[in-house]
Amino acid sequence: MGAVRLVLFDLDDTLFDHRRCYRGGIAALRRRWPELRRQAWAAAVDEYDRSLALLHPLVLQGTLSSADSRRARLRGLFQAGGLEPDEETLREANSVYAGRYRALRGCVPGSVPLLRSLRRQGVRIGVVTNHQVAPQRKKLHELGLEGLVDQVTISEEVGAVKPDPRIFEAALQAASIDASAAVMVGDSWENDILGAQRVGIRPVWFRRGSEGLPDRSVQTLRSFRPLARARSVILNPPRRRPGRPP
Ligand SMILES: [Mg+2]
Repeated sequence: MGAVRLVLFDLDDTLFDHRRCYRGGIAALRRRWPELRRQAWAAAVDEYDRSLALLHPLVLQGTLSSADSRRARLRGLFQAGGLEPDEETLREANSVYAGRYRALRGCVPGSVPLLRSLRRQGVRIGVVTNHQVAPQRKKLHELGLEGLVDQVTISEEVGAVKPDPRIFEAALQAASIDASAAVMVGDSWENDILGAQRVGIRPVWFRRGSEGLPDRSVQTLRSFRPLARARSVILNPPRRRPGRPP
């Protein structure tokens, strides 16, 4: 196994701390409309996660706008609190949510030092993300990541969404680097881990949630801190356990 020359990162909830933003948005709504607290915090976040997972693919397909997707999620939060929000309430909710979301926008802790450190070592950095071009470019710019990333592969541009092998192949091609010298770091088991494996890229699962590990041979990171550990997992393939056939 040769040295790692390319590390690909997912963007949302791997480099960009999306979870912190939307949780903050939900908390702000619950402060503004205390009735929403009839639903337990954990249940509200779970419900929001589920609804995001359900609606986001429609946004990617272009059959639902981001704005309508957000309205549907906000409406769901109100309905779970026993409220039927009118247009005016939904508009205000959108602005309360978006304001807090924007205020909290930032990178996942430890990700920027990690990117810097990998690049100093001559490793090429790529982003591979499922979404439209405009919001993802804007996000990279606002997060200050543009200067830390050598290449960006966005599903809308490629015409294929993770876990489709074509998006990973496009990223490898942009780098002119073989899959065997690449690593993919991402939080989605299906999109990032299984997708990367299908094209022969070694995956590292960024496991921030509480889900179990479906395959123990896959390396995981719960955090990008401490830096030395994150670097070591990303740059070194797993050691085979003694006693196991190669
Ligand atoms: Mg993600």
